[in-house]
Amino acid sequence: MQAQIQNICVLGATGSIGGSTLDLIARHPESMRAFALTAHSSVDKLFDLCVRFQPEVVVVTDDACKTIFAEKLKSSDLQIELLTDKEALSQLVSLGEIDTVVTGIVGAAGLLATLAAVRAGKRVLIANKEPLVMTGDLIMSEAQRCQADIIPLDSEHNAMFQCLPAHYLAARLSPEAAGVSRFILTGSGGPFRTMPTEKLTNVTPAQACAHPKWDMGAKISVDSATMMNKGLEYIETSKLFNADSSHIEVVVHPQSIVHSMVEFVDGSVIAQLGSPDMRVPIANALSWPKRIASGVARLDFRQVGRLDFEAPDLQRFPCLGLAMRVAEQGGCAPAVLNAANEIAVDAFLQGRCSFLDISEAVEEALQTDFESTSTDLEAVLAADKSARETTRRFLADRKLNDTTAVVKARL
Ligand code: NAD
Ligand code: MG
Repeated sequence: MQAQIQNICVLGATGSIGGSTLDLIARHPESMRAFALTAHSSVDKLFDLCVRFQPEVVVVTDDACKTIFAEKLKSSDLQIELLTDKEALSQLVSLGEIDTVVTGIVGAAGLLATLAAVRAGKRVLIANKEPLVMTGDLIMSEAQRCQADIIPLDSEHNAMFQCLPAHYLAARLSPEAAGVSRFILTGSGGPFRTMPTEKLTNVTPAQACAHPKWDMGAKISVDSATMMNKGLEYIETSKLFNADSSHIEVVVHPQSIVHSMVEFVDGSVIAQLGSPDMRVPIANALSWPKRIASGVARLDFRQVGRLDFEAPDLQRFPCLGLAMRVAEQGGCAPAVLNAANEIAVDAFLQGRCSFLDISEAVEEALQTDFESTSTDLEAVLAADKSARETTRRFLADRKLNDTTAVVKARL
């Protein structure tokens, strides 16, 4: 009997998560296929992927690039449909032929497509954490209502997913119901883990993007350097696993071998370990509940030697503390934090503000008035818009001495 082929839609196919996902699809042609691909503006890269993977449908979200891509397709002999509507991403993920959607778009830009995939009852593999931060309660409750399977791709959350009972997410269990006492979220500490605050003032985008353990897109690399990434993941943990802050602890683990742990009420701690390569969690999610080869090198524990753990430094990395506070606050506070951070990180990458301005800008946005109770989509989108405007204004008058290093995001 021939095995069923899983039709996969890769949102953000030209990015880092997109690349790792396509690497796995290429390794397993017997069981999966890249049915649909999307990109924002890297039309040449997307075109090369189309030649290689022959998807049925593609979406380009940037208006100018959409036209360029349409011309490229027309003058080729590729038989691929290009969806061009304003709502093309949401239409795409809802197509009946698609089984699985991998969310590899960066930032709030992936929110509506994530929600549409969930509402279409797909198996949704979530790397794009910002929508979960902004409106995680809605995404999780819609997943239950529409019988969509959510599988976390973020390495920490996929690690915790592997440590939990298999039905934890689908049944929306609480930590108490599963006997969980703590979700122990590990993080490498980023490239500036040991750098004193005085030196952080002058770090460049290139330094911030040079992560010691993971090769990722520009935005998440800067988030790792400020430790906002761990803050976003703290909120992501609370939304995915139905947990409050009494259940979540952040631990810095520079080797990035333990990808996170779950502690149970009897004192047992279950951890997931592996090489720091996103193909491990993506392979787990693509084949769950089975296992497939990922092409990742095995861990050699005699080489690893030691595993270190330490407390995070909230003084030097205020973004983590802000996110932990916001997780408690609820309402639209996480959406405000996320929006301000997206604008500030973009400004930093373009040399328009300093590294330390990022946390200041986020703190400023959190001082404004925003909807503090409702988390419905309209309120979240309004809070997102207003926080972006506040942050742009706040950063407008920042002047930098050194605007040399500009890192181009993988769009
Ligand atoms: P990336 O910058 O490498 O790729 C981003 C992708 O999103 C690209 O394909 C780009 O075309 C697309 N994109 C950008 N702006 C868009 C827009 N406005 N509309 C539609 N598409 C747009 O980013 P990445 O590192 O692959 O990260 C993607 C997401 O996954 C992020 O939310 C990140 O936090 C999360 N994540 C990444 C990693 C990793 O190892 N890279 C690990 C865990 C989680
Ligand atoms: Mg992560």
